[in-house]
Amino acid sequence: MSEAGPSEVTIARIQQQLILLLHAQGCLAATEDAASKCTVPHCKTFCAVLAHIEGCGDETGACSVEHCTSSRQIIAHWKSCESDDCALCIPPQAS
Ligand SMILES: [Zn+2]
Ligand SMILES: [Zn+2]
Ligand SMILES: [Zn+2]
Repeated sequence: MSEAGPSEVTIARIQQQLILLLHAQGCLAATEDAASKCTVPHCKTFCAVLAHIEGCGDETGACSVEHCTSSRQIIAHWKSCESDDCALCIPPQAS
């Protein structure tokens, strides 16, 4: 059984990373005091990744910094994705 495209495990991992990246963006934008109280696991990791990406000009995908290339791919997809039922993007919170 081999299917084309990302497996469900991969999709779940990408979703998780996207959630963390979006959260980290919020923490980076928050005050230092608020961010220092954040208890979300891996938040600090992804804050550091986002800070790194800001200055990382490597567009070739050859950057060896952990999460750099994958995070940029995920963010680029998330920003350009217009599908309402995309499996990778977080569905909008039902209000
Ligand atoms: Zn946080
Ligand atoms: Zn990088
Ligand atoms: Zn998408």
